[in-house]
Amino acid sequence: MKLPRKVTHVLWRLCKECLPTNAALYNIHVDVNPTCPWCHSAVETNLHAIFLCDFVLTMWHVVGLQSLVQCTEHETPKEVFDRVFHQGSKDQCLEVTMLCWSLWYCRNKWIWDRANGSIFGVRNTTNCLFREWAEAQAREENMKIGGKVGDRVWSKQSTGWVKINVDATVFIMGGIGVAAIIKDNQSAFVASRVMKLPGEWSPREAEALALKEVLSWVINRYMHCEFQTDCYALAASCNGSTGSSLFDTIVIDCIGLSKHINQVLFSFAFHYANNVAHVLAHAAYSMTDVGDWFVTPPNFLVRSLELDSII
Ligand SMILES: [Zn+2]
Repeated sequence: MKLPRKVTHVLWRLCKECLPTNAALYNIHVDVNPTCPWCHSAVETNLHAIFLCDFVLTMWHVVGLQSLVQCTEHETPKEVFDRVFHQGSKDQCLEVTMLCWSLWYCRNKWIWDRANGSIFGVRNTTNCLFREWAEAQAREENMKIGGKVGDRVWSKQSTGWVKINVDATVFIMGGIGVAAIIKDNQSAFVASRVMKLPGEWSPREAEALALKEVLSWVINRYMHCEFQTDCYALAASCNGSTGSSLFDTIVIDCIGLSKHINQVLFSFAFHYANNVAHVLAHAAYSMTDVGDWFVTPPNFLVRSLELDSII
């Protein structure tokens, strides 16, 4: 996986357990207090600083990655990363590595500059890093659909349009979660839907099925819809040619359904711009049926929706 050089550097040091944490400095007889500057309740080892501190645990929880990075104090950072890279999706791995870098960066800003250390701070730093990285990648790969590079942060549609962010997640225990969130041209929440579907599907097929379910749901409700996905292959196929794989047949169904809507756009967004749909799709795990919300979003989405409008 390609990563920014500064991220690779922090990861490498973390895996070698040679980030200069308070405990590491104390061990080489530097006159510092070995306890953690965030929680003051444990020795600041490399593992504690990035994965075990109460502060960082809250952050991992807020971003929905706590189950992927959870570990015990008997593990090494390298063992944690081995697991993350083995079990996580490519997007999740990228997010974990960038958050690790941001945690270390914000921890140092807090210690040396007394800059405000907060979960929002860590996330904002990650957003900036992600944006820079995504732009560099997009330039490199010339990743364009209809002449437009994908959104890096969520942005509203124009008057008369709704924007529908779609996402899917494949559950290890079987089945997939599909979700959509609809917002109007004022960025206001209009509706959302989350469903759990049975079956074994690839991540790409799951994304296409999510779009198909959502298209069936919104037909005859809105005249002008932009459907946004963080699956580049799906956005590209909806805008271009399709083949004959299972994925392609689902895409053909999607295109067929979209003909019942007056005006339709299919666009690609980077993962961060599609975060609300992502959080919602994960919520399908604990559901047995469909969840629909109109006008008022479910409580667990409020925070992610706020982040869309802050960025
Ligand atoms: Zn701590």
